[in-house]
Amino acid sequence: MRKKIVAGNWKMNTNLQEGVALAKEINEALKAAQPKCDVIIAVPFTHLASINAVIDPAKLGLGAENCANHKSGAYTGEVSAPMVASTGATYVILGHSERRQYYGETSEILKEKVALALENNLTPIFCIGEVLEERENGTYNEVVKKQIEEALFNLSAEDFGKIILAYEPVWAIGTGKTATDDQAEDMHAFIRGVIADRYGKEVAENTSILYGGSCKPSNAPQLFAKPDVDGGLIGGASLECGSFMGIVNAF
Ligand code: PGA
Repeated sequence: MRKKIVAGNWKMNTNLQEGVALAKEINEALKAAQPKCDVIIAVPFTHLASINAVIDPAKLGLGAENCANHKSGAYTGEVSAPMVASTGATYVILGHSERRQYYGETSEILKEKVALALENNLTPIFCIGEVLEERENGTYNEVVKKQIEEALFNLSAEDFGKIILAYEPVWAIGTGKTATDDQAEDMHAFIRGVIADRYGKEVAENTSILYGGSCKPSNAPQLFAKPDVDGGLIGGASLECGSFMGIVNAF
């Protein structure tokens, strides 16, 4: 059975002190909550080690928001997968649309990042999704299929089985414009079909596919009720404990 997951993506928000306080608050809230899903927070690199020291890993998973496509060496300013792993983090978001858009991340680069993440026992939360123009011109299925094929279909079935996917329509990220639960379900079912064609039905059935894009406590229950929506990747609403827990408790 595939896992249900709610993951926060803090992006470039909170200073270290604020981040540690928020992580502690979420960790405390989870103790009382008996969540029906795995809960993860992906936080800035600078926060990883300090947050790892204050959370219970059995209750709250910790991840980075990116890692380098090189192991080590003369790459000033980069943070490698082994460095992330050495903080105690066990997840890493890869291929977020903001990284693709603003930092030129291509499928070729992402393929390298995925390989390094897996080598270092980090679970990739791999993001895919179309922009508004592709939604409107009807090419969204092809676009998403290509993103998955190019960056992930070189993996063995065993390694592919370690990936968490996050479908994030770019037009819904931070815009307040959520995909409808039917739009999300259609895409998630399509993605599962693409995986089944490559790796077989069992691998497809076991892959967690999260929805991301203006997910909040008010729309999470409908989205999560869809059979192929296995949870959410949450940006804005993950920066406040109450709203994040509202989404966690939507399962
Ligand atoms: P949002 O961001 O929830 O603020 O729309 C989601 C994401 O980018 O992961």
